[in-house]
Formats: sequence, C-alpha cells, structure tokens
Amino acid sequence: MSTGRLTIDLDAIAANWRALDAMSAPEVQTAAVVKADGYGLGAGKVARALAAAGARRFFVAVAEEGWALREALGPGPEIGVFSGHMPGDTDMIHDLGLVPMLNSIEQMTRHFEALPGHPFGVQLDTGMNRLGMEPAEWVAVRDLVLSLGPRLLMSHLACADEPDHEMNRRQLDAFIEVTEGCDVPRSLAATGGIQLGPEYHFDLTRPGVGLYGGLPFEEARAVVELELPVIQVREIAAGESIGYGNTFVAERPTRVATVSGGYADGLSRHLSNHGVLFHEDTPCPILGRVSMDLIGVEVSHLNADPKFLTMLGRHQGVDDIAEAAGTIGYEVLTQLGPRYARRYARGRE
Ligand SMILES: *Cc1c(COP(=O)(O)O)cnc(C)c1O
Repeated sequence: MSTGRLTIDLDAIAANWRALDAMSAPEVQTAAVVKADGYGLGAGKVARALAAAGARRFFVAVAEEGWALREALGPGPEIGVFSGHMPGDTDMIHDLGLVPMLNSIEQMTRHFEALPGHPFGVQLDTGMNRLGMEPAEWVAVRDLVLSLGPRLLMSHLACADEPDHEMNRRQLDAFIEVTEGCDVPRSLAATGGIQLGPEYHFDLTRPGVGLYGGLPFEEARAVVELELPVIQVREIAAGESIGYGNTFVAERPTRVATVSGGYADGLSRHLSNHGVLFHEDTPCPILGRVSMDLIGVEVSHLNADPKFLTMLGRHQGVDDIAEAAGTIGYEVLTQLGPRYARRYARGRE
C-alpha cells in the first residue's frame, strides 16, 4: 500500500451534529449540510451516520448530489437543494423527492409549471448577493408564493465566522423584515450563525463545516486523520538540494523521507518548505516543493526512520493545514483526494 490512509470518524461527525443541535432550543430543528460529497468525506456514509444521530433534514448544493444521498437515506428524510430548480433538474427533483430552494422568479415559474404541488422552499438574499431573491422581487410575489405553501424561507450569512461583524445584525434585521408575518418555517444560521445566539436560530439551522470538525466550530471533535506512507529515506550532504526547483538546499547533513502524497491529493503546493507532518508527537518539516505525488520531509531528528508520517491528526487539524497553506479548512476538506485509501471508523463514543 503506497497511498495515504484517510480515516474518517463517523462517531465524531455524529457527536459534532449533536453538539451543534444542543446549541439551539429543542424546538429548533437541526439539519445537516452534506454538499460537495459531504465536504469531501463521502455524502452517503456521512448522511447515514447523521440520520442515525437524529438528523431528518439534509441540504445539498445541486440536484445531482441528491442521487447518492437519496440512495443512502431512503425515502424518509427531506433533501433541500440550495441552487433551486435549474433547467434539466425537473426529473431529478421529482424522482428523488428533492425540495428546491427557489432563488428567482424564473426558477419559481419553472417549478410551478413543471411540478405543480411539489414541495419547495424560497431562498432570500439579505445582503450576501450570491443566491436568493432580492427583497423587492420577493415582495412582488410573496402573497402568491405563500398561498402555494413553501416549506421553508431561508437566507445565508456572509460574515457569521466573525461574531462582531456588523453585517450579521444587518442581515438578521433584513431577514426578519422580509419574512415577518409569513407563517412559514425560517432558517438563517449555518455553523457560524448557530454560535451567534438564539436570535439567529429561527426554526431550522443548517450546519455544514462544524460537523466535519472545522472552524468556526471551535469545540468540534476532529473527524479526519491522514497518514502518508514513507516510500524512501535518504541522507543528503550539506549543499545538496531536494525536489523541483532546488528550493531547499541543506546547510548540514540531513535525513529526508519521501512520503506518498502531493498536490494531486489535495495537499497544497503552498505547503512547500513551510508545512509540517508529525511522527507521533514530533513535528517533521516539509523540505522543498510539494510535488504532484510526493513530499520531502525532514526526519534527521527522529530516533528511527518512520513507516508513516501524519499529515492530519491530533497535533494538526484541517484548519492548521489551511492556515499553513493560506486557505480555509473547508477547502482542505473538500480537496482531500480520491487516491487515499479511505477507512470509516467508529471512534470513542
Ligand atoms: C454551505 C452552506 C451552509 C453550511 O455552511 P457551513 O459554514 O459549512 O456550516 C448552509 N447554508 C448554505 C446556503 C450554504 O451554502
């Protein structure tokens, strides 16, 4: 076996869902966002674990993601689609029983004509300017749409990971203004919004990244572990270089392990000469450039040559790697590559 080993702790995902669920009142429903193949961890497996933990409502980004999810979940749980009802989605929405979050008059027309009576929700823009109806558009069609019985009115916060950002309050006020008196369940908060407090919870929360162990859920249990096998170890002399472009030149005799894993596996080239891996508790710096399939790592200071080095584990989580690579945990998770040998574990419950 020469590919990395990615271990995904389904019990930790379930525990994170329960912890996020416990942050809102019992009457507030907690959904689970499993878009992008469950943030890269496998939507089917993740969704089954979440359903077992008590999640009854799921969200994906696009209708196509509903296939794997419906197969994994069976007919009961509700699956919402953030991108709404796009041309070509009608059969999927119908056959898989998806609930599109309609984003525009055009989507509403398409949905009501193609699938009259089929459940839907409405996404409203409150300032992020990404998806959802503008307030003026919504006001023009609101009475008609409400008469058709939407399942949910939702919006999304742009700055919820910054609790003190004034945008949060502004979006909250805007959301209240456009939904007040509608008598339809409402949802505004994702992982960040849940932590802004009960005003932001409404009837349903939609956590994603926190389930998978990422910020802004500080107390999240770690979910992924990634170990990369050492393929070869060599001793280089002072003055010798490592990897493409000779960007690392040894100043002293150095023992370097070449591990299997690279940017094709989602390990950013920005980690070149910068990131670390771990052998048990000992950090081992990356030497030279991260290449497509391989990374050079210093092991001079270890007592013996390791068989594996840990990229993600108890000393370094997805947000630590993200920080070293100049990105966010969301991107590290969703880039975890298809070459890893994936193992789904039940952790310590
Ligand atoms: C991705 C997404 C979520 C989940 O957000 P997290 O920050 O991952 O918790 C919720 N709602 C919408 C509309 C999203 O696009």
